This record gives sequence, structure tokens and C-alpha cells, in this order.
Amino acid sequence: MTEEKKLNYDVIIVGAGPAGMTTALYASRANLSVLMLDRGIYGGNLNNTATIENYTGFPSVEGPDLAKQMYEGATKFGAEYAYGTVEKVELDGDLKKVTTDMGDTFTAKALVIASGSEQRKLGVPGEAEYGGKGVSYCAVCDGAFFKNKHLIVVGGGDSAVEEGMYLTQFADKVTVLVRKDHLRAVAVTQDKAKQNNKMEFIYNTSVTAIEGDDQKVVAVKTHNNETGEDGEMQADGIFIYVGNDPMTKPYTDLNILDDQGWVITDDKLATKIPGVFAVGDVRETPLRQIATAVGDGALAGQEVFKYVDNLK
Ligand code: NDP
Repeated sequence: MTEEKKLNYDVIIVGAGPAGMTTALYASRANLSVLMLDRGIYGGNLNNTATIENYTGFPSVEGPDLAKQMYEGATKFGAEYAYGTVEKVELDGDLKKVTTDMGDTFTAKALVIASGSEQRKLGVPGEAEYGGKGVSYCAVCDGAFFKNKHLIVVGGGDSAVEEGMYLTQFADKVTVLVRKDHLRAVAVTQDKAKQNNKMEFIYNTSVTAIEGDDQKVVAVKTHNNETGEDGEMQADGIFIYVGNDPMTKPYTDLNILDDQGWVITDDKLATKIPGVFAVGDVRETPLRQIATAVGDGALAGQEVFKYVDNLK
């Protein structure tokens, strides 16, 4: 006899990154039945992060390794994990109904949105065409394909600089193209990168197109934002780190998003809909870090417990 699939939970957490997994840990330790739903492997953006050096207790840790440890902790007290992209969220009185692309509709008393953000595209010609053929958004995944090559990184934030440094272990040279005359990355990261003799920074420069030979990337077209000059630069690969956009499409009709699509919460991580919470990067928040995501998860786990307990 096949076991019947469980579809009803106390809480559904959409997204199994650091915020979602921490919420799962706290909620399951409070004896709630918990389902984490994710469109991919647990860990979220940790899986695209090479080395993390600013998460307390871990002087230096690889993103995927930390993801695995978080997952083990998150599921230790009974929280479940299921694969599926959330397509629709409906409210039926106190009940939250979540439908995935796998055709499942799960229900719960509380919903925690922990879906994070996804990397923004540059939106230039050649970007989509050469995806997987030299255009990448993930140094950890693709860096090793570029041994002794020249790589271009686009962006000036922490991701661009940190992932650029990671790429220097494979590439001969990594050129970071920064559209303004300065970086946004934190000072310690900038200092480290500027001491790395494989790293080169070119400022005031935007990428306007990615060129290839049909098989792979060969060059990028550039525009100097100061002088107005256009140019071209040889490249074997281009890694794009130009910020993130929230993954909140299924929630647009709930009227809980700001004008850029981030979820608005109060200081207890509740949205204006009773029983709907949001944690981590997906929230409108001044800082998006693993540490802040985990802090959100702890508080939300507790708040969800109180909410569900009050329904009794
Ligand atoms: P950010 O939003 O911090 O930076 C995006 C960068 O891309 C900026 O330099 C921006 O330029 C540039 N940019 C945006 N659009 C374009 C474009 N079309 N063409 C060229 N450049 C463009 O994104 P990150 O992914 O770096 O970081 C996201 C968040 O995660 C941040 O809060 C960051 O601090 C955090 N983070 C923390 C890490 C850590 O603590 N170890 C590691 C990685 C990320 P401009 O400045 O001109 O807007």
C-alpha cells in the first residue's frame, strides 16, 4: 500500500535558504508540523557563494558546505522538505493554500515567505544567447571551466568583488568592470581584492553587448560613462553580479509588497495578512546577510508558533 502524501501542515515555509531553514528549525522545535518548499536544492544563494568569512562561528566556510550543515539542523526535529516552485498562494479564511508546479496544493495555518532573491540580468545583447557558453552568474559552479583564461566580472558590490577574487584561482586575469567611479563592496573586501595581482578594476565602464563566435563568448563591448567612448575587450567568460531582485511573483495579489517587489513586514516579521510572515532577503530590509537571515528565521519561528497556538 502506498503511503498517502501529507498535504496539511501547521506552517509552510517557501524557500529553504538560511532564513527558511532557520525558521523551520525553530518552528519544528516548538512542535509545529513544518514543510519547507523549494524550487531547487536547499541552501538558496549559499550554493552560489564560494567562501563566506563574515558568518559568526565560521571563520571561513564554503557556501554549499554551510548549506548542508544548516539543512541537517533544520530537519533534525521533523521539518520536511519538498521540491516545487510555488505558483499560486490563496487565502481561505485562516487557511493558506499553496500550489506548486508539481501540481500539489498544500495547506497550512501559517505561511512564511523565505524565497529570497535572484540575480539580476544585465539585459544586453548576447547575454541570453551565450548563457552557459561563457556567460555565468555563479563562480562556484562555473569558475573551474576557465583555467588560465581572461574573465570579466560586471558589478561593484560585495558579490562582484568576492566572486572575482574566487575566480583568480582559475583564471590568469579577472577584470572587474564597474559602472561608477567607485566600488560598493565593504572596505576589507576591496582592500583584499586590490592586493590580488590577478585582479584589475576598470571604472566608469558599462557592458553594452556580449560577443561570441557562436560557440562561446569572445569579447564584450563597453561604454565609458565618463568619456562617452565605446570600446571592446577580449574575454573568455563573463560573470555578472549586478544585484538581486525579489522572488515574489506568487504574492503580487496579496498586496504585501513594496513598489520594488520586496515583502513589507513589521518588526516581528509579520505582513499585514494574519499568519503570513516573511524572512531573509525577500523582505524590505536594510541589510541582506546570512546573519540577518538567520536572525529573522529565529524570530519568525517563534512568532509563527505564537500565531498557530492562538488559533487553538
Ligand atoms: P549590490 O546591489 O550590492 O551591488 C550591485 C552592483 O552592481 C553595484 O556596484 C551596482 O552599481 C552594479 N550594477 C547594477 N546594475 C548594473 C548594470 N546594469 N551594469 C553594471 N553594473 C551594475 O549587489 P550584490 O550582489 O553585490 O550584493 C547584494 C547584497 O548581498 C548586498 O547587500 C551585499 O552587501 C550582500 N552580500 C554580502 C556579502 C558578504 O557580506 N560577504 C557577499 C555578497 C553579497 P551601482 O553601485 O552603480 O549601483
